[in-house]
Amino acid sequence: MTLTGGCHCEALRFEIKGDVRMRALCLCRTCQKISGGAGNLFIGLMADDFRYTRGEPRRFAKTADAPTREFCSECGVHVASRSPKAPAGLIVKVGALDDPAVFEGPQMVFWAEEKHGFHLVPDNAKVFARLPGR
Ligand SMILES: [Zn+2]
Ligand SMILES: [Zn+2]
Repeated sequence: MTLTGGCHCEALRFEIKGDVRMRALCLCRTCQKISGGAGNLFIGLMADDFRYTRGEPRRFAKTADAPTREFCSECGVHVASRSPKAPAGLIVKVGALDDPAVFEGPQMVFWAEEKHGFHLVPDNAKVFARLPGR
């Protein structure tokens, strides 16, 4: 499967060749801040299946062990993140995909302990208080 996407201004474009390994929603406070408040919808991939086809992102990590967020230096839209705890993987924001419909909804919800009453959790999703395995 090939998926494409990019930032809002299109200075940053990417291509994904490979399988979607995970479909998730993260409700952690950081994702609320970055997403606009509703939480961050994303797909998980092998990092080798992802490449930028136009532009280079700016990168930011708040601390040495925090995920590095990759975003457009022109329009500021965040497209992907990499975690030092899972260096072979990468996550891509669903909103950055050219066809967000391929997402089909989250299988998993992370950081439910930071959710608010207005957040929606799908009935069939597996819900974790923080992250799986913690
Ligand atoms: Zn941009
Ligand atoms: Zn999060």
